[in-house]
This record gives sequence, structure tokens and C-alpha cells, in this order.
Amino acid sequence: MPKRLEFDVVIIGAGAAGLMCAIEAGKRGRRTLVIDHANKIGKKILMSGGGRCNFTNLDVSATNYLSNNPHFCKSAFARYSPFHFLELVDKHNIPYREKTDSIATGQLFCEQKSADILNMLKAECSSAGVTIQSHTHCSNIRKRDGGGFKLSLENASSLQQIQTHSLVIASGGLSIPRMGASNFGYQLAAQFNIPVLNTRPGLVGLHLNESLQGSLASLSGLSLDVSVSCDGMTFSEAMLFTHKGISGPAILQISSYWQAEKPLEINLLPNYELSLLWEKWRLDNALLATHLSKIMPRRLVELWLQEFDNLPTRQYSKLQQSAIINKFHHWQPKVSNTDGYKTAEVTLGGVDTNAISSKTFAANSVAGLYFIGEVLDVTGWLGGYNFQWAWASGWCCGQVV
Ligand SMILES: Cc1cc2nc3c(=O)[nH]c(=O)nc-3n(C[C@H](O)[C@H](O)[C@H](O)COP(=O)(O)OP(=O)(O)OC[C@H]3O[C@@H](n4cnc5c(N)ncnc54)[C@H](O)[C@@H]3O)c2cc1C
Repeated sequence: MPKRLEFDVVIIGAGAAGLMCAIEAGKRGRRTLVIDHANKIGKKILMSGGGRCNFTNLDVSATNYLSNNPHFCKSAFARYSPFHFLELVDKHNIPYREKTDSIATGQLFCEQKSADILNMLKAECSSAGVTIQSHTHCSNIRKRDGGGFKLSLENASSLQQIQTHSLVIASGGLSIPRMGASNFGYQLAAQFNIPVLNTRPGLVGLHLNESLQGSLASLSGLSLDVSVSCDGMTFSEAMLFTHKGISGPAILQISSYWQAEKPLEINLLPNYELSLLWEKWRLDNALLATHLSKIMPRRLVELWLQEFDNLPTRQYSKLQQSAIINKFHHWQPKVSNTDGYKTAEVTLGGVDTNAISSKTFAANSVAGLYFIGEVLDVTGWLGGYNFQWAWASGWCCGQVV
């Protein structure tokens, strides 16, 4: 537990946003304390990008984010771009590469391990004189007469009263509770009458309705490129059939747009026009299934054609042709739910950005209180966008706290 009882800046949450904010505040000479209730800091950084942290994306704009207030993120991105973060990465000689085995471009990953990014942030915090305290719980947050806040910090060995001029909430969203996620930020916002928009899991696998899933069980583990659409958005990426439904990059992306009343439509042959292929294939005697199996997984073809006779392409009636084409190009699976916060990469919704300054990240109605990162109602697509939001919001806030 820190000996000092007065700080200029206390940051709750030692994740991507909190650490970036701490570095900037510390560099300005602010006495900065970051606390985290988890046993280790930056756990999501460590587990991100399959252990290689997709730490940013070369092509970031507001269109890559979901928010009730879609312009909110623009100011931060204009001031702190992916190239600013890359300068930091280069300064620490961290090897990285752009992902190439995906339709999506611009995704930058660590060449070696996510820990490189966390170690970089720790080193920057250390040289900026920031105090970091894990295993620490924060409670009793109250405004002080004359400005600032007082709060209680508790760890295994002590309970202390701390005072701070600025209080920054960087406690993230609800995704992956076993990694330390909590509703702390939303509760604190409510305590100060700052509105919080409904939350739901994003970048998450989808469950299909039970009978559909039963009929697809044999496809579990199979992956193919698809185009998936929902609510006016379309993503073209790989989809994976799982034992509960569907997942993979295309599905994670669209999951952030899916809601019960908004149906999903999947084009299983996004790179082909089946009606044109059909005309070509009707010139020979080969079975339709044989032709289709040359351009997509045979297991899927067989299942998809199960309800139809197994015929040479030319022998199907017009009605059957159109039903088959529809089934491949416009599959509308019945989604029953998402996999939930236990596997979701992000939380949609959160602290209402209409109540927050897009320049300073200060709450409009509470002097000295700031919200940054995922706790806010700004959620990025898959592909390094969420970390870029954490870096940019943390950096901007760190200039003013
Ligand atoms: C499996 C997985 C992989 C991901 N991969 C990527 C990726 O490759 N690229 C990308 O851009 N995004 C990725 N994301 C999303 C990204 O990790 C988050 O958007 C980002 O970490 C949000 O940063 P943050 O600092 O706002 O919150 P977090 O990183 O969640 O940090 C919040 C911190 O606050 C702490 N905390 C919470 N409650 C309290 C409390 N009551 N008291 C004290 N401390 C508290 C938590 O322990 C945590 O350390 C991934 C997410 C997951 C779950």
C-alpha cells in the first residue's frame, strides 16, 4: 500500500486505458496512483490477440466503433493516432507485424508476445514515477469540500484513506469476469447521477436455436469464408461452426450488431454467384454436390443439400434451383443468444458519452471525475480498434488530469 496519502491523480483500473493515462499524467509531474483489484495488472493485454496483442489498427476511424454518440471518439483519434502508439512500440524495440492471413487489413500484432506491450507500459509508468498497486479495492468514494475526492483503499494488510485531486475511472466493461471485470465504473457513474446506457456482450460467439444446432452438430469445427449481415452492416471474414452455434471473426464482428429482433443473414458463397455457376454446371452430367464440393467444404454441401434430391445440376426444377441458391447465399440461422460475458471480448454500451467531454474525458457534471476506455459507451470492431480506443482516451485524459 502506498505511504503517500495525497495524490494528484488516482486511476481505478490498471488496464490499457488506465496505464496509458497514468504514463501521461506522470510525465506531467502529477503524483499518480493506479490501483487494480486483480492480483496482476493488464490481464486483458496479456490474453489479447491470442497471446500476441493486436495492439492497434493502421486504419482507425469513427466508422469502426459502435456508440450511441458516434462522433464522440473523433476528437481523441485526431489527437492520438495509431502512429503515436507505434512510436512508443518502436521506442521499446518491440517487434510487430501486420496480420496477413485475413481479409481485414491493418491489424498490428506483437511478433512475440503480448507481455511486450504490458512490459512497455510498466516501464513507461516507472520512468514517469507512477505508483501501481494491484490487489487493492477501492470504496467510499466521496467528493471533498473544496474540490477533489476522498476514498478508501484496502488490500490484504491495510485500509487507508486517500485524497486525490482527479479521479479517473478506467475499470473497463463486464467481459470476462474471471480476469477482473466488474461493474464498478457503472456503479460509480450512477452514484454521481451520470447516465449509463444498457450493456450487452460484443465480439462474442452466437448460439443457434436448439433444433437448428442439433441438425448442424456434424459441422462443429468447420470454418469457411462468409459474408454476414445484420442491421445494415456486413462483414466478410471466416466463420466457424462450434458445438453451440457459430463463431470466428465474421461472427464476432456481427455479434456487436445482433439483437433478438434483428435477423442475421449469411452468404456461404460470398466469392461466387451460384446462379451463374449453375448455368455452366448444367452443361455436364456431374452432380450439383460434386461441383459445389470443389468450392466449399463437402460436409457443409452434403448437409445443405440433404432436403433435396442428389441430382446432376441440370435436373433440378427452377423452383428447387432457386431454393438451393437462396439457402447458400441467404442463410438466415435462428440465433437464440450470445455466449455471454464469460467469453465476449468487449462490452457494448456503458457510461453515456453525452455526459462526458470528448476533449478531456471529464464528467460534465462532476468536477475532477473522468471516465476512459471500455467503461464508456464506445466499442470497437475486432482488429485492434478497442486497444486504440483505450490508448487514445487514456492519452487525452492524461494531458489534463
Ligand atoms: C480475450 C480478449 C482478447 C482481446 N483481444 C484484443 C485485441 O487483440 N485487440 C484489441 O484491440 N482489443 C482486444 N480485446 C479488447 C480489449 O482487451 C479491451 O477493449 C481493453 O482491454 C479495454 O481497456 P480498458 O483499460 O478500458 O479496460 P480493461 O483492460 O478491462 O482494464 C480494466 C481494469 O480495471 C480493473 N478493475 C475492474 N473493476 C475494478 C474495481 N472494482 N477495482 C479496481 N480495479 C478494477 C480490472 O481488473 C482491469 O485490470 C480483447 C478482449 C478480450 C477479453
